[in-house]
Amino acid sequence: MINILDMDLEELKQWMKSNGESKFRAKQVFDWIYKDICEFENMNNIPQSVRGKLQTYFYIGIPRLIEEYTSKNNDTRKYLFELGDGNLIECVVMKYKHGNSICISTQVGCRMGCKFCASTIGGMIRNISPGEMLAQILKAQQLINERISNVVLMGSGEPFDNFDNVMKFLEIVNSENGLNIGQRHITISTCGIVPKIKEFADFNMQITLAISLHAPSDEIRVKSMPIANKYSIAEIIDVSKYYIDKTNRRITFEYALVKGLNDSKQDAEKLSALLKDMLCHVNLIPVNEIKENELERSSNDDVTEFKRVLEANNIQTTIRREMGLDINAACGQLRRSHIKGEELK
Ligand code: SAH
Repeated sequence: MINILDMDLEELKQWMKSNGESKFRAKQVFDWIYKDICEFENMNNIPQSVRGKLQTYFYIGIPRLIEEYTSKNNDTRKYLFELGDGNLIECVVMKYKHGNSICISTQVGCRMGCKFCASTIGGMIRNISPGEMLAQILKAQQLINERISNVVLMGSGEPFDNFDNVMKFLEIVNSENGLNIGQRHITISTCGIVPKIKEFADFNMQITLAISLHAPSDEIRVKSMPIANKYSIAEIIDVSKYYIDKTNRRITFEYALVKGLNDSKQDAEKLSALLKDMLCHVNLIPVNEIKENELERSSNDDVTEFKRVLEANNIQTTIRREMGLDINAACGQLRRSHIKGEELK
């Protein structure tokens, strides 16, 4: 059986045609699914015979809710979902004044090995399919009973290590026949797989690209990010400029501040020199401490000083608003705790 969420409209039209049905049935099925995850048997404008065929070939792969946590101030919800094969993934819904935003996972686990990140500890189990990415949004919308208008691919996994599935997901999420979420409302975050950033730029989409830089030099970057052995910061800056030229979109550089590793005034100066005159923005994240390592978050004073230096060099900087810290909302922490059988406080 095939997860119907893995198909785009054109593929379902072709399926209808080769099964002797009118192509327009495909659009009807899409309307039912993407409006409210309607089961095949309840699609009442579709003849019984067609519903029967759909049930024989397809299923609607919605994950099962295993655990749910709501932050004290109610603006962040974290879900642990179980996929059809029993694998666990997590996603986070954040409520903002301007709408609901979801952070979804693109892989079960991750093989990038970043030291500060809990998602990568057990390695990469498998890629998440386009339909399983869509299903995280569909399920979350159902749970909060509200529309989700912004999507960030910043959960577990490296999106550009699962490139084709992510591209297909983007097509369906963006399509007016699918979830109809505008490209400008989508952010994709990568640890910096240079050739894939180039390939992505060539699609010329209006999606926000975020790059996890986390260091002002290769020497510092290799200490926490193994991918730095493969691609240098110079290559990342080059390909970022290429992305900006192609798309005219501002890039976000993520920078997790770790005490004593990358948070000095000199580091801020070096970072400023790297990013000089680029159409970009730096998002500072005081690192979320995880149990599995010793990395400590920078002091508030150091974070403020780091921001001040960047801004003095005309680099737009924000400090990530921390949401959901009380519910282990940082990447991969919920899945880890569940696998280890720990209770969250
Ligand atoms: N693989 C992608 C997307 C997933 S991680 C990437 O690397 O960008 C989303 C962001 O959270 C990345 O910037 C990642 O480096 C950061 N991150 C992961 N663990 C963190 C932690 N413990 N504290 C702060 N940021 C973290």
